[in-house]
Amino acid sequence: MQYVSTRGSAPALGFEDVTLAGLASDGGLYLPESWPSFSADQIRALSGLSYVETAVRVMAPFVAGSLSEAELRELCAAAYGRFSHDAVTPLVQLDHRHWLLELFHGPTLAFKDVALQLLGQLFERFLSRRDDHLTIVGATSGDTGSAAIDAVAGREKIDIFMLHPEGRVSDVQRRQMTTVLAPNVYNIAIDGSFDDAQALVKAMFNDAAFARRFNLSAVNSINWARLMAQVVYYFYAAVRLGAPERAIAFSVPTGNFGDVFAGYVAAKMGLPVAKLMVATNVNDILHRALADGDYSQGQVVATATPSMDIQVSSNFERLLFDAGGRDGKALAEQMKGFEASKAMRLTNAQREGASALFTSARVDADAMTMAMRWAYDAAGQVIDPHSAIGLAAARAIDLDPAVPVVTLATAHAAKFPTAVERATGIRPSLPSRVGDLFAREEAYAKLPGTFEAVTAYVAERATPRA
Ligand SMILES: *Cc1c(COP(=O)(O)O)cnc(C)c1O
Repeated sequence: MQYVSTRGSAPALGFEDVTLAGLASDGGLYLPESWPSFSADQIRALSGLSYVETAVRVMAPFVAGSLSEAELRELCAAAYGRFSHDAVTPLVQLDHRHWLLELFHGPTLAFKDVALQLLGQLFERFLSRRDDHLTIVGATSGDTGSAAIDAVAGREKIDIFMLHPEGRVSDVQRRQMTTVLAPNVYNIAIDGSFDDAQALVKAMFNDAAFARRFNLSAVNSINWARLMAQVVYYFYAAVRLGAPERAIAFSVPTGNFGDVFAGYVAAKMGLPVAKLMVATNVNDILHRALADGDYSQGQVVATATPSMDIQVSSNFERLLFDAGGRDGKALAEQMKGFEASKAMRLTNAQREGASALFTSARVDADAMTMAMRWAYDAAGQVIDPHSAIGLAAARAIDLDPAVPVVTLATAHAAKFPTAVERATGIRPSLPSRVGDLFAREEAYAKLPGTFEAVTAYVAERATPRA
């Protein structure tokens, strides 16, 4: 399988190179040059398979040429062996129509483990083949950071520098990052928002000499391998609810548009997806873009769902590219315009391409609270605020009531105990596998949100290429 950039001028690369590169050299994001296609019989044949076996079938076409099926199986078994539930991503029924897909049974209690545990395995395999070293630089609004750090802590050929917006991640989220004291892990608190932190990371990648010297790589959801890993659970859940014989809708609490784009990929591969609900909090750029074609950046408002407090959704570019006819040169111009003015209109082709599958909703704090209460009252489920944004949107979806609606439950409630207690009266406790998080020593640097400060810090500590 070869991959092409959304901005049309970077060279096409195979899966191994795309995984190690993250961002394309022209500033675009990689996508497969064509979508693999699964027949109804191939989808039917997934029924009853384990999560790992489903993962191997779904991902095999994407890694062809870089990994054999046996190698892929070995890496998936290692990655998903660290989950605390046998089903890896179990489904829980809420009422006759609504389901939760629990994606938080990994080591750091959020769905990002599903992709990052596999990415850690892929990095190790590819770097040891090449005898190379990698410097991961990332920005996190909370969950990516801890999941990435857990996935690579202690690995010899990787250093990781993780930026988070100071004071804007929960205590649990921060401690899950800053208490990992491995010698290859560097946490940096930035004076600024998540978008500021992400802009700093982008600027480091755009500094070609710096990026080459330290062999920079991204683990943010711009990395194709992460999206690919997330496609698996759409298949796994849909087959359990009757696919390919019936179509399933998914509601996805959305920030960077990675998780919900994986649902789009599943649909492109032939999975019968009735609708993809893009559920945002009051940081609603995606809702405005999908409802009105208005992709214009507002001010980030801090909410009880910090992992969705985002005003620029990196992966949206992938949808604009694919739904808009895959014209990389035109998209490069459009994105350049957006980067300059912080606003753009979607083209008619982009709007039409998106509207077939996507719908969207903006969920405010009251609706989020109501959804948490409903899940508890109706089904005895204590859910986290992000999952509640998804559930609130799912319950408002305009669809034939015979279609099952699966809400992606993206974090364990114990990551956000205060908001959960306020809504339900119940204070969720951390599962025992997380251990004594609040007794452990923390280590992190505090830096101003400037390019100079951050690059100087990284340059002093990272391993330059030989
Ligand atoms: C990252 C995250 C999201 C948003 O996912 P995207 O792929 O960025 O859209 C939602 N909920 C939780 C808990 C997350 O960690």
